[in-house]
Amino acid sequence: MPSLNPPWPSGTRGVLANRMFTTARPSCARSTGFGGQVPYCLCLHVHRVALLIDAQLRLRRGSLPKLRSPLPCDRHRHHFDGDRGAWDRVGNNGAMLTRLRDRLVAEGEAALRAEPGLVRFTGDHEADRLLNDFSDHPHAFVFAALVDRRVKAERAWMVPLLIQQRLGSFEIRDLEPLSEQRWLSLMREPTPAHRMPETMAVVLHRATHRAVTQYAGDASRIWADEPSSATVVRRFLEFHGGGPKIATMAANILVRGFHIPLSDYRYIDISADVQVNRVMARLGFIDERSSPDVVVYAARDLNPDFPGIFDLALWDLGRTLCRPTNPRCSECRLNDFCAYANTHRPKA
Ligand code: SF4
Repeated sequence: MPSLNPPWPSGTRGVLANRMFTTARPSCARSTGFGGQVPYCLCLHVHRVALLIDAQLRLRRGSLPKLRSPLPCDRHRHHFDGDRGAWDRVGNNGAMLTRLRDRLVAEGEAALRAEPGLVRFTGDHEADRLLNDFSDHPHAFVFAALVDRRVKAERAWMVPLLIQQRLGSFEIRDLEPLSEQRWLSLMREPTPAHRMPETMAVVLHRATHRAVTQYAGDASRIWADEPSSATVVRRFLEFHGGGPKIATMAANILVRGFHIPLSDYRYIDISADVQVNRVMARLGFIDERSSPDVVVYAARDLNPDFPGIFDLALWDLGRTLCRPTNPRCSECRLNDFCAYANTHRPKA
């Protein structure tokens, strides 16, 4: 039987992982503390956690070296016997994660090379045309990005069209004189344009002011003249309400959807929202309880030149197939590489 002690690296994390692994196994093997029976689910859980720590440690070292992976104990090995191939794939997850990363990066690069077309945000053609109108209404894209939080994305990106319909214009010269109170009534009536109309009225009022004072009313100056990715992200961060998630998402859409040239893509991080976090965890890149910061740094590890390159692919999976319960793995193009799919595969 192979060694049960993987070669954890030194350091706090290595010690932690080693202790967890070596203290968990004897309880599994000798069945102590559970009346002579260790539930199968506990054994499986211990091994899954060990696998995820293993994957994280490899990612943090940047080279994804091949390590021996923890294996199920003798007592519970038979649970995998029906699908030994699946276990082997999980057991070799260093190589699998590398292949998965390569595939996701290749998909992202193909999207960058694709012919630009209308970028779809809402499913409403008129709303999408306004958001794509960088010649006359570049602020529509900026404003929609700033209100894309605490509500479904499709609803947030509808806000510019709703304001245009309610005000009769979305020209920056017509938006500039609006008071905060007027923004609030536009966001509220006749129906709320957002789940948080009060907060977003302030965001849009200040965004209009900033677009006028900093960019002479032309928001496309945010990304004009091939700036660096750090510059574009910073400029979105400077708007009231523009946190890192929104700023990197906006920069990512500019590059990926609108093919706006930047001098580099290094500071376009993955937007660590709930969908992306869940898919990253299930694929095996991070632990399922990881903080958004861990997600961001894992993506930086995976593709330092453009960490956000697979943001859309993972977000889209999280919204469609990879739902919180009952993910539709059989329909997923990544199921051959996915740690979750391989460990949850139904037995024949
Ligand atoms: S294979 Fe299943 S768990 Fe894995 S990413 Fe696809 S849908 Fe999610």
